[in-house]
Amino acid sequence: MERHRSWAEPWKVKVVEPIRMLTSEQRQEALEASGYNTFLLRSEEVYIDLLTDSGTSAMSDWQWAGMMLGDEAYAGSRNFYHLEEAIQQYYGYHYIVPTHQGRGAENLLSKVLVRPGDYVPGNMYFTTTRLHQELAGGTFVDVIVPEAHDPTYEGPFKGNVDLCALEELIARVGAERIPYVCVAGTVNMAGGQPVSMTNMRELRELTARHGIRVMLDATRAVENAYFIQQREPGFHERSVAEILREFCSYTDGCTMSGKKDALVNIGGWLALNDAVLYEEASNLVVVYEGLHTYGGMAGRDMEAMARGIVESVQDDHMHARVGQVEYLGHKLIDLGVPIVRPVGGHAVYLDAKAFYPHMTQDQFPAQALAAYLYADSGVRAMERGVVSAGRDATTGKHHYPKLELVRLTIPRRVYTQAHMDIVAESVAAVYGARAGASGLTMIHEPRYLRFFQARFKPLHTG
Ligand SMILES: *Cc1c(COP(=O)(O)O)cnc(C)c1O
Repeated sequence: MERHRSWAEPWKVKVVEPIRMLTSEQRQEALEASGYNTFLLRSEEVYIDLLTDSGTSAMSDWQWAGMMLGDEAYAGSRNFYHLEEAIQQYYGYHYIVPTHQGRGAENLLSKVLVRPGDYVPGNMYFTTTRLHQELAGGTFVDVIVPEAHDPTYEGPFKGNVDLCALEELIARVGAERIPYVCVAGTVNMAGGQPVSMTNMRELRELTARHGIRVMLDATRAVENAYFIQQREPGFHERSVAEILREFCSYTDGCTMSGKKDALVNIGGWLALNDAVLYEEASNLVVVYEGLHTYGGMAGRDMEAMARGIVESVQDDHMHARVGQVEYLGHKLIDLGVPIVRPVGGHAVYLDAKAFYPHMTQDQFPAQALAAYLYADSGVRAMERGVVSAGRDATTGKHHYPKLELVRLTIPRRVYTQAHMDIVAESVAAVYGARAGASGLTMIHEPRYLRFFQARFKPLHTG
C-alpha cells in the first residue's frame, strides 16, 4: 500500500521570491546581448534558473537563525569550531581547512601534492579540479568506467573507477608519479552518476598496495550516499549519514564545495587526515584565502554551512531532493526526449548529440540547445560538452568529449513540481523543433575555463 502513495518535501515555504518570464522578443534580445552564453545572461532575464545547483539552494529557518550568531572575530571564530565539529562528525576527517568555495580547496590540495610531471587519475574530469592539477604541473588521466561515456546505458554506478585502467596507469608511469587518485561522488560531468561502496573499498585496497593516496571530491558525496542506500545490496537499512561516513573512510581527505550538498550560498573546505599535509595546507591557506579559522568565509557563513551539513544528511531531505530530479527526468523520458540514463542526483542531462545529429561538435550543439531552450521559455540551463571541455594544454586543440550535454540543474529546496512541469514542456517543444535548429560559431574565447565567458553567434540566422 504505502509504496503507491505520493511523497512530498519535508518542509513548507516561509518566504517567496517573485520571478517573471520576459516576452519572446525580449528573450531573443537578451540571448544576442549575452553572446548565446547562458552564463552571460542577467538573472532578471531568467524565468526558471537551472544553470547550476551551486550556491543556489534555499536555506532553512534554522540556518538563517545561525546567520545571526556569526562570530566575526578575525581569529578563532566559534563558528569555525562548529563547522569543524560537523565535518568531523558527518564526514569523519581529522583536520579541516576552510576555503571560500571548492576551487579554493582544489588550489591548496594541488599546490601541496602535485609536482611537475605528475599524473592525477580521476573518475572523469571536472573543470576547476583539472585546471588546478594542470596549473600545478600535473596531467589528468581519466579512469572512469567506459559505460560512463554511454548516455543510454542504464547502470546503477556509472561513476565507478575503472580499476584495470588505474592499474595500467600505475604500471606505465610508476606509483611515485601519482600523488593521489581524485575520486568524485557523484560524477558531475558523467550526468550525476554515483560510485558504489564496493568500488571505493576495492579502490582503497588497490591504492594501499601501491602507497597512493585517495582524495575525494566530496561536493555531492551525500547524494552519492543516497544512491548507495537505494541501489547497492546491503545498504537499504542504513542511514545516508552512516553510508557517507563509511564512504569517506576509504579516502585520505577531501575537497568540498559547500555550495552544493551543504545547502549554503558560499563556502567550502579542504579536509585531511595527515598532520604533515595539514600543516602545509593550513599555512598556504593564509596566502590564498585567509586565516585557517575562516579561509575566506564570514563567521555567519561558516555557521550556516555547519547547520547545512546536519540538514543535508537527513534521509527525508535526500529523498525529496533526488526525488524531484527523478520526477523531471522521468517526465522527459515519457515525452520521448533523449537524456542521460539513469537520471542523476542533481540534474537531468539532455543528450545534445541525439537532439542535433546534423551538427558536428565544432558547431557546439549543446551550447546551441541551451540557447534554444532559453529562447523558448526563459529556462536557463548550462552547456556540458566541447565548450566546457576546453583545449588540450599541450596541443592547443579542442578536447572532444564523448558526451555533448545540456544540464538542467535543480537547486535544492527552491522550485516546485509545477516548475518542473513547465521545464519539461519547454524541453519537449525544443525537441519537437530540432530538425530546423542550427549550430553556433565561437567569436570570443577566454584563456581559462572558457565556458563561463565565451561568446557565440548563430551559423545561420533566421
Ligand atoms: C562545483 C564543483 C567544484 C568546484 O567548487 P566551487 O565551489 O564552484 O569552486 C568541484 N567539483 C565539483 C564536482 C563541482 O561540482
